[in-house]
Amino acid sequence: RVKEKWAATRTKHPPTSLALQHFDATYSIQLGKLWPSVRVALLSERKYGALLNNFSHEAVLAGLEAQGCRDFTSDTDTEAQTPEVSTEEESSCVSMKKSGADGQQLPPLQLSPHIKCLVFPRADITRFKPARPDMCGLLGYYLMDAASVLPCLALGVQEGHNVLDLCAASGGKTLALLQTQCIGFLCVNDSSVSRTLRLKKVLHSYVPKQFLKDEKLRITSFDGTKWGEIERDTFDRVLVDVPCTTDRHSLLEDDNNIFSKNRTGERRKLPQLQLELLLAGIEAACPGGEIVYSTCTLSQTQNLSVVEQAIYLAREKHGINLQVVDLRPLTCMFRKTFHFAPDLHLGEMVIPHLAANFGPIYMCKLRRLT
Ligand code: SAM
Repeated sequence: RVKEKWAATRTKHPPTSLALQHFDATYSIQLGKLWPSVRVALLSERKYGALLNNFSHEAVLAGLEAQGCRDFTSDTDTEAQTPEVSTEEESSCVSMKKSGADGQQLPPLQLSPHIKCLVFPRADITRFKPARPDMCGLLGYYLMDAASVLPCLALGVQEGHNVLDLCAASGGKTLALLQTQCIGFLCVNDSSVSRTLRLKKVLHSYVPKQFLKDEKLRITSFDGTKWGEIERDTFDRVLVDVPCTTDRHSLLEDDNNIFSKNRTGERRKLPQLQLELLLAGIEAACPGGEIVYSTCTLSQTQNLSVVEQAIYLAREKHGINLQVVDLRPLTCMFRKTFHFAPDLHLGEMVIPHLAANFGPIYMCKLRRLT
């Protein structure tokens, strides 16, 4: 075995260190006094959630609950509805229930039904055991960052909806969307052929064949930025879960790291790619349709700035007017499980915290008015 510190090939500046340097420089400004604690959490072991597979015949829910897990989607914060509040955040949840920022009544947020995700309690870092196949060979749960379930819940898929998952591989969010069992037709796309193959394997390990037939589901490997040219004004719901700097991965794994010197160009082009993907997703949605944009980075350049530019360009270039859907009801419901960034003016973001080490996940929901 080569001793790592003497290996001549070992790079002086591994991508993980470059990522940390970059995040220290940008996030200390963006997040201010929050950054040191978010940094510690990002560098520590992440927490997973177990997305329950409703297609499995095994009764895994009771087993997981017996181990001390709970489904965060049904463990919502009811205190936010009571007037006895103490902190600023709590009072903002209460007042928001009655009215929006402009004093108008907020429409209730419709969350996608039947998506269940189990987590261990706050500060409990027990790991899940690997899921076992049931008598039909289907696995009982899928392990993923529990915060990744939030964009799927926020999408608000309803009965019979025509849904597009534009950057879908390796399929965690697709699987969450399929749990709703109410989608009319689902288009699953990812430009990477190898990752699309992985997605197909995931779907076959979790979903019975009859739900994967051509009349229910289409899997493609197109460049998503061109989707608007192919299928415009079509989908009731579009999920645009874009490639990003994947902050956690970039800090912990040197392999396949976007901060590698030879990927600098690719990294710099990310905001432009994200913008093109979001615009394509907006075009693909039908008037009245809704789009959720999501990333797993804290970067303002890849989050709010992309959404702001997309809203502007959709109007200027395509004549599409968009409304931002307020996701604060969702953050109020799930604040027992996740830490959300305070005061974002556009969208919501789960920030990693040592006692609830999920995320980062940024999400913003848009509704097409025209
Ligand atoms: N939604 C996935 C999930 O929940 O497992 C994760 C998606 S990952 C954050 C982003 C994906 O975008 C990658 O799988 C990547 O292959 C894909 N991608 C990159 N460029 C793309 C493009 N131009 N069109 C479509 N997909 C693209």
